[in-house]
Amino acid sequence: MTTAPSDTPHGPHDPGGPHDGPESAQARFHALLRTFEGRPAATAGRAKDPVNAPMIRHWCEAMGDTNPAYTGPDAIAPPTMLQAWTMGGLSGHTDRSSAYEELFGLLDGAGCTSVVATDCEQEYLRPLRPGDEVTFDAVIESVSPRKTTKLGTGHFVTTRMDVHANGEPAGTHRFRILKYAPAARPRPASPPPAPAPAPAARPRPVINRDNQGFWDGVREHRLLIQRCTACRTLRLPWLPGCNACSSPDWDTVEASGSGTVYSYVVMHHPPFPAFDPPYAVALVELAEGVRIITNITGVPYDKVRIGLPVRLEFLRVDDTLELPVFRGGTG
Ligand code: ZN
Repeated sequence: MTTAPSDTPHGPHDPGGPHDGPESAQARFHALLRTFEGRPAATAGRAKDPVNAPMIRHWCEAMGDTNPAYTGPDAIAPPTMLQAWTMGGLSGHTDRSSAYEELFGLLDGAGCTSVVATDCEQEYLRPLRPGDEVTFDAVIESVSPRKTTKLGTGHFVTTRMDVHANGEPAGTHRFRILKYAPAARPRPASPPPAPAPAPAARPRPVINRDNQGFWDGVREHRLLIQRCTACRTLRLPWLPGCNACSSPDWDTVEASGSGTVYSYVVMHHPPFPAFDPPYAVALVELAEGVRIITNITGVPYDKVRIGLPVRLEFLRVDDTLELPVFRGGTG
């Protein structure tokens, strides 16, 4: 810690002493935050469901985990599900402590109103099996000094949860969040004179050596699908290698241009410059079988439907941008 230089004495109305600069105010606030260390974040929490095969199955399907240890009469739960058993779900936690709420209230009051989960660590002591009743206690383990990150300035709060199964220690889950004041967006020191408002430019595609050929095709009004030369699997968007056989070798086939709307969403909010909501964003399935995210033209947003036949066309957006889009309602 540094002290104020001696040639900048505090005025007579300054209630603080010679060490009462912003740094010591920060140190005092951190000391206050640290009084929460060791206080409970949740006490005698109880999992909403015992360990059970359906949740294990859903987890494994979502993760693509086919390990045989997680199925059959002797199944165990995937260890990384540890936190899943203790989550509050949409109906929330009923066992969160007042200390946790107080700590968050203090940080909110200091302007640290945003929160982001940063990382977690788990330690496994015993496998969990269907039928196990899960209980847990959580403690506020540490609150970091004030830190500045790209997101903003705030404090890391680490919570440690000790998980028990049928009363036996089953594992530990440490969860770290950053509670922070968002960084101000950079502004130019002196704003340039306001030009006549120009229409906002639509975002540019990020073109790199993996997808250059796709955009070269668009410039020639050809929608090019990548094809693996080893196993003939088609892929769109373009990728450096084949997901089916891992081969890096490819050529292209030109899409016939016919397709159908496979799925879509209608964007209302948030508004983005250069886009005029509401508008439909569609996932079009090409006749060749691959799909592309695109816009639908020729049909109002509320007439876009799954199964709608569509036809490729190229939309000239501005001087430097042309995009493949799909026209509906023509057959
Ligand atoms: Zn392949």
